[in-house]
Amino acid sequence: MALTVIGSMAFDSIETPFGKKRDILGGSATFASISASFFTPVNIISVVGTDFSEKYIKMFQKRGVDTRGIEIKKGNTFRWEAKYNYDLSHAETLSTHLNVFDGFRPLIPAHIKPVDNLLLANIDPDLQSYIFSKIKPKGLVACDTMNLWIQHRRKSLLNLLKKIDLFLLNDAEARQLSGESNLLDAAKFISKSGVKMVVIKKGEHGALFFSGKLRFMVPAYLLERITDPTGAGDTFAGGMMGYLTRQASVNDRSLRKALVYGSILASFAVEQFSVEGLTNITRKDINSRYRHFEKLTKF
Ligand code: AMP
Repeated sequence: MALTVIGSMAFDSIETPFGKKRDILGGSATFASISASFFTPVNIISVVGTDFSEKYIKMFQKRGVDTRGIEIKKGNTFRWEAKYNYDLSHAETLSTHLNVFDGFRPLIPAHIKPVDNLLLANIDPDLQSYIFSKIKPKGLVACDTMNLWIQHRRKSLLNLLKKIDLFLLNDAEARQLSGESNLLDAAKFISKSGVKMVVIKKGEHGALFFSGKLRFMVPAYLLERITDPTGAGDTFAGGMMGYLTRQASVNDRSLRKALVYGSILASFAVEQFSVEGLTNITRKDINSRYRHFEKLTKF
């Protein structure tokens, strides 16, 4: 079984208290696919412009990410500009240029199978719904989002949630969507939409998981250095779904472990700008952080 990831591929311009970079590789599908590729074969569906470099496509392929679902369209690649202050938990979006994503409705390539798991990484919920309706997935389906879509596509997002299994969003987004300040109340509100499992990410404070009677808290890995939090959420989602895709079943134990792997993968992503924190590591590094994580949380 493989994981299909749909989302943005982007050039990001990022400013954090620790540096400033222009037009670096980013995008929700980029981070999520690289993260998932440590566990499972990945099929990516996205679109880039003619300004996108072939070297990045090769980088995905080398990692076992099938890139046949990346469309190259005349025009510019999606661009996102953001700034973080010392509170690194929330990005201030300075500009978003959809470019080739404007009106993008991909043809689903034949190698994408409904039995595979599906991660609808952060992108317009109308596009996420379109992909869902075309693939008609039979595997586990997860969905991520952001404040922009909660504000402008609330109805589409709530409709989509009825059909999916696992919804990931951060604490501010959970409050925005539910109108509740308490995160337990926010999770209850979101669960009423029909989605079976909810993950509320809390940046450096870890993540919360809600599903029926199961509640689980996972801390963020303790880091000495955070350089750029961009992509942490996408990396978390990719790690979690990548791990679950290789498990015989989705149960309490595999879900708990998947959350821990999501948290660990995200910890690598934030150590460097762009995807460097993920592309410079091996499965051995992940395993060693996993063991350290166990020690740090044992009581
Ligand atoms: P995260 O930090 O995990 O929330 O995600 C950051 C990534 O999301 C960046 O690499 C951006 O390119 C991408 N991104 C930002 N805004 C959007 C948007 N409106 N739609 C899709 N992707 C976006």
